[in-house]
Amino acid sequence: AGRAPDRVVTSVCGFCSTGCSLDVHLRDGEAVGLTPTVGYAVNDGMACPKGWESLTPLRADTRATTPLLRDAGGRQRPVGWSEAVDAFVGGLRGVQQRHGPASVAFLSTGQIPTEEMALLGAVAKFGMGMVHGDGNTRQCMATAVQAYKESFGSDAPPYTYADLEASDVVVLVGANPAIAHPILWERLHRNPHAPAVIVVDPRRTETAAAATQHLAVRPKADLELLYGLGHLLIGLGAVDEDFVRDSTHGYAAYADHVAGYPPERVAAATGIPVADLERCARTIAAGRAVSFWWTMGVNQSHQGTRTAQAVIDLALLTGNIGRPGTGANSITGQCNAMGSRLFSNTTSLLGGRDFTRAADRAEVAEVLGLDAACIPDRPSLPYHRIVEGIANGQIRGLWIVATNTAHSWIGQDDVRDLLGRLDFLVVQDLYTTTDTAQLADLVLPAAGWGEKEGTFINSERRIGRVRKVARAPGLALADFAIFRLLAEAWGVGGHFRRWSSPEAVFGLLQELSRGRPCDFSGIDGYADLEAQGGIQWPQPVPGALVEKERRLFADGVFHHPDGRARFVVDEPRPPAELVRPRRPLVLLTGRGSSAEWHTGTRTSTSPALRNLVPADPYVEVAPADAAARAIVSHDWVELVSERGTMRARALVTPTIATGSVFVSMHHVDTNRLTMPSFDPHSHQPAYKHAAVEVRRV
Ligand code: SF4
Repeated sequence: AGRAPDRVVTSVCGFCSTGCSLDVHLRDGEAVGLTPTVGYAVNDGMACPKGWESLTPLRADTRATTPLLRDAGGRQRPVGWSEAVDAFVGGLRGVQQRHGPASVAFLSTGQIPTEEMALLGAVAKFGMGMVHGDGNTRQCMATAVQAYKESFGSDAPPYTYADLEASDVVVLVGANPAIAHPILWERLHRNPHAPAVIVVDPRRTETAAAATQHLAVRPKADLELLYGLGHLLIGLGAVDEDFVRDSTHGYAAYADHVAGYPPERVAAATGIPVADLERCARTIAAGRAVSFWWTMGVNQSHQGTRTAQAVIDLALLTGNIGRPGTGANSITGQCNAMGSRLFSNTTSLLGGRDFTRAADRAEVAEVLGLDAACIPDRPSLPYHRIVEGIANGQIRGLWIVATNTAHSWIGQDDVRDLLGRLDFLVVQDLYTTTDTAQLADLVLPAAGWGEKEGTFINSERRIGRVRKVARAPGLALADFAIFRLLAEAWGVGGHFRRWSSPEAVFGLLQELSRGRPCDFSGIDGYADLEAQGGIQWPQPVPGALVEKERRLFADGVFHHPDGRARFVVDEPRPPAELVRPRRPLVLLTGRGSSAEWHTGTRTSTSPALRNLVPADPYVEVAPADAAARAIVSHDWVELVSERGTMRARALVTPTIATGSVFVSMHHVDTNRLTMPSFDPHSHQPAYKHAAVEVRRV
């Protein structure tokens, strides 16, 4: 760093799903600095603090620089790759020989390039005989995937970021882009139509504070609220009759269902006055182009899928889809969650196919030159069932890649205990110090963002290039190289000869996408992506004009066989854990700062980012709740749930409603408190609701 650059390459940021482009300044092939790319369709010269600090985590002294193998004395000791590979094969194959192939599973990530996650899924399932493997995208996007599949006929986020700049009404449900997606928040502020911004959130977040209208919904009453808005919109005559008739199915049942949600009932359930509900509905009804956006406040819920679909229902009802400034738009979390959704080979077969369909298995086998018999005929267990499988002895070996399960999984104490019970745990990551790596029998040192090649797919379906701009330290290798090494050692390297480089795999994935909703077979390789500044799927035709911004469903035709989107409704259910006298407060969790990322494995290595967040964990407490407990700001307090405790500094603030407390998801102890409950359709954890008490210590 500090040396004058002699070259610049562009690379998509490796933190969040916005997919900003960064110009990385090189000297003698090594990164010496970076600046946000001017002119890139996503960020046009902007980056948030994490993006600016992208290079710092690579230089941390906690990097894994050599494989580590736990010895008989329980100590992780450095070994070479040869011994590490032998230990991997011996450890996991030994488990399979004792307990069957399905007794070993993998947990993957939305943080590595699409080519790497596809190779991992293929090697594990088509080569090593594993059946079960899921990703940490289960924690963020599974709900949106399921909702889109049922409503649209495929997992198809329909929007382009330009819609934020073309709406005259923007509805944000369970989303705090000012913190979680700051570049999108900035783009919204560039909207020349001065849009009305409606925020649905139990907290008065940074986003809510800047909104035209904030609906401070009671925690997990959002489904009732959305049905109530549907009721009011129908009453206001805001139904787009032509669109509903020509492009949807199930409207009559929807109208019948929401008739049961008159404003008075909804006001009682949500805590929002009738007049505010009516004002919100009138704003939406008057909108020329209304876009609906949601993130984790919806997805991480015990009824997340139905809530996401209730958002989609409002867009369908009012015909706000397929036009500029509209859409039912899930914003993804991780930089490559969208790649994981299509190509991780976990619950969906490569390209969004179905493991249970023989025709889908045959297609994949033909493209890859494999025997279809090596493709499992059942999908993976979802993440929480893999965790349960460890508890009941079904899963005995686990390979965790680029995710920090022991910190991030809901109900953390239980999962730590379970990871410790495995016959053999392999962790492949950048750092030796993560809570999960510390538990591993074998640590495989991986290269990070900036140390390898590939592509990411961002929230608006834009495929962008990720570039190698630095050498990985010590013996660390790109995940791609590790997967190939392990495949050879396992004796199945012959299956993957065509998976010779990230770009070769990109070509295979293009073939696997052909004819699918995500078809990007028309992209002319990596060079095309670089020349165009990223390309949104679908792009099925070679040489076709690449528009800078593009949305789906402009023709009103959806991906169900009849071409129609579905209205979906359900009866609201209570959360799994309700408040009661011993635990009278609802615990809300979420992103605390735009300078932190998930479990902090990377962002905590940056002094600049650490300086942007409080040094101590903190809990937001409402003034009335604080007064009742004689708590003032900066007091150390203890949060207690049925599962564990956490110490934090109190922040007494009216931004949190009486009866709730808020804790940042990044703190290491937050998930000691959360309640392991799951949406029954998406199997996503419900991080947003648990019963706790807070008291001074
Ligand atoms: Fe990176 Fe997301 Fe920040 Fe953009 S908004 S710089 S993609 S972390």
